[in-house]
Amino acid sequence: MKPFTYVKPPDFESAIPAGAAPRTKYLGGGTNLVDLMREGIELPDHVVDITGLPLDAIEELPNGGLRIGALVRNSTLAADPRIRSRYRVLSEAMLSGASGQLRNMATVGGNLLQRTRCPYFYDTTAACNKRRPGSGCDALEGYNRNCAVLGVSDSCIAAHPSDMCVALAALEAVIHVNGPAGVRRIEIADLHLLPGDTPDLENSLVPGDLITAVELPPPLGARSTYRKVRDRSSYAFALVSVAAALQVEDHKVTEVRLGLGGVGAKPWRAREAERLLLGGPADESAYRRAAEAELAPARVHADNAFKVRLAEATIVAVLRELSLAGVNR
Ligand code: SF4
Repeated sequence: MKPFTYVKPPDFESAIPAGAAPRTKYLGGGTNLVDLMREGIELPDHVVDITGLPLDAIEELPNGGLRIGALVRNSTLAADPRIRSRYRVLSEAMLSGASGQLRNMATVGGNLLQRTRCPYFYDTTAACNKRRPGSGCDALEGYNRNCAVLGVSDSCIAAHPSDMCVALAALEAVIHVNGPAGVRRIEIADLHLLPGDTPDLENSLVPGDLITAVELPPPLGARSTYRKVRDRSSYAFALVSVAAALQVEDHKVTEVRLGLGGVGAKPWRAREAERLLLGGPADESAYRRAAEAELAPARVHADNAFKVRLAEATIVAVLRELSLAGVNR
């Protein structure tokens, strides 16, 4: 592993300037960063350990929402009674990710910024525009079964790996950031960038920006759930996942949110499907039309064309489940 300096600041006043230095990484749970450093993919000169900062609380907000500190562990968030009862989709998404041991270590802030699991990104002998800009993309003609079909470009077709972010997209979470320019808020939809010609640029943060919290708006009135389809039942990334919330009155859809995982180059908010569903009939043919419309712009490659039908079928199944559910979730 390449040598680096290590500091553990006690407060934001020292952490932010340290984090703004060139080639510096913040360290939280380390479940992704340390792996990447071991593999020679992340090569920071400086590591700023933020685990001494007061960012591990889940707090009620006056509007009925919640503020989740960036250092809250994934397992803590999944088990919190307020999350389980008021944001079921988020609790289920957290529990579907990684393994129990990793969830105990991984933080909410780190989950937001985790890197892709494209195998060529981790193989330093492979061409990968995300790891080494301008080198090409071996996934385009190679093994691309797990790659994305929405939001992809000719430079990169990697899928975003997070389950949590898919639920946060559906919930319209807001990310709190403290950085050299002060504090600010970023809508979750604006945090992650599509690859375009610069897949190495993955988010809208600038050097020194530190994610401090995730704000959840007041709970939806709708029932919600998260379904993840994968090659094995645990410790696997999504082939397709759906975060959904649905409210039906008099057989009409009165509220709907849909987030998709495994298919998008970023956590995917299915806005076209939501637009078609809202105010329309709550029946299976409407669900199918909406799902097909959302997946219509999909760009598939040799191994991942199956994701289109799988995503459509999963959307329909989840909406059907929510519309038939007899208890308020
Ligand atoms: Fe790299 Fe993206 Fe291509 Fe994977 S899909 S090899 S991450 S450029």
